[in-house]
Amino acid sequence: MPSLTRVEAQQRAELITVRDTDVVLDLTRQSRSEREFGSVTTIRFDARPGAQTFLDFKGVRLNAARLNGRELDPSSWQDERIPLTDLAADNTVVVDAVMAYSNDGEGLHRHVDPADDKAYLYAMSFLDAGPRWFACFDQPDLKSRYTFRISAPEDWTVHGNGPAEQTAPGQWTITPLQPLSTYFVTLIAGPYASLYTEHDGIPLGIHVRASLGDALRREAEDIFRVTEQAFDYYHRTFGVRYPFGEYHQAFVPDFNAGAMENPGCVTFRDSFIYRSRATRSERAGRAGVIAHEMAHQWFGDLVTMAWWDDLWLNESFAEYMAHRCCTEATAYPLWTEFGISRKAWGYVVDQSAATHPIAGNGAEDAQTALQNFDGISYAKGAAALRQLAAYLGDDVFLAGLRRHFDRYAFGNADFAELVASWSAAAARTLRIGPSSGC
Ligand SMILES: [Zn+2]
Repeated sequence: MPSLTRVEAQQRAELITVRDTDVVLDLTRQSRSEREFGSVTTIRFDARPGAQTFLDFKGVRLNAARLNGRELDPSSWQDERIPLTDLAADNTVVVDAVMAYSNDGEGLHRHVDPADDKAYLYAMSFLDAGPRWFACFDQPDLKSRYTFRISAPEDWTVHGNGPAEQTAPGQWTITPLQPLSTYFVTLIAGPYASLYTEHDGIPLGIHVRASLGDALRREAEDIFRVTEQAFDYYHRTFGVRYPFGEYHQAFVPDFNAGAMENPGCVTFRDSFIYRSRATRSERAGRAGVIAHEMAHQWFGDLVTMAWWDDLWLNESFAEYMAHRCCTEATAYPLWTEFGISRKAWGYVVDQSAATHPIAGNGAEDAQTALQNFDGISYAKGAAALRQLAAYLGDDVFLAGLRRHFDRYAFGNADFAELVASWSAAAARTLRIGPSSGC
């Protein structure tokens, strides 16, 4: 299937502005081998009158699609796109569909725990898997407010990117407080074992499958402590409060990455919930991942790249800030570990045939952006940001970031705009280029 190209994304962003998205999910049927669920998406968006564009949709069956009350021909859905023609200034599109649960960790993943046969769901929309569970305009610079209305078994817990309210047994509404990019829209749903607390006005939750409940009770104190210390540190450092309301951390099975920074509901691989005695090094590694995902809440989630070729900057920044935060605010001083192992990861890739510049990977389509995700994009990029902070002075480095968060909050910005924020804070012009050191 074609991956969205940068040119297509730019053209679509010039034509439309997404206002809000309402997703109704029917998750009630949960036989042991359940494969499908109902998903009805309603999107309201503004457009240039008379223009045409397309919606991203990777369902199993399209029951019906309507644009401004007009039935669309289901056979027009091809190559995972639904064409939308003759747009009005103010549009409503409804997609009524059957989608497939995934078993590859992307889309709406379903795991049946062999320990007790209980089913667990979590959604992973990164990088372009959002359309596997709801229809959307799937690119980082078309943000939308989302409302989710979910029917689920009555003994399930549901959380997402905003406060989840159970309106009747098994009936949930999630109303994220802020606009979100499609790639970090998420959901967890299942008979999760959960622990809750609150810190500085932020409700916190940790969630695992029930069979890991005992292990969670042993690990929760360390996870909550690091989370609270990191919130205090980032609030002090960024001068902008965490903007997404509640903060949930779900440790889920079959997870492909270490973690994913979904605003308000981060997902982690559940091997971070140690089943037996853990070493200090293991706990330090987990603290680094917790602090990394929290840094993304500002860099990535509050201010988001306009296109995937700036994804390196998300990761370099989160890696750099996580090491800073853990060293300065937690019991895990990670800069030593960075020098010994993370930088070595960068050196090894840099000396291989796969080496590439930190910045400007020039991803022409969404999938190509993933190919450069390695020790250069994380570790070498973090080392370069550390050098930049030393070069500019920490005051200027942080003042530039604050200016950047202020100016682009809940929107998008590219690398050049970040450099401009630092230039403004430094009162001199930084240049992007081979000799700039950036
Ligand atoms: Zn990251």
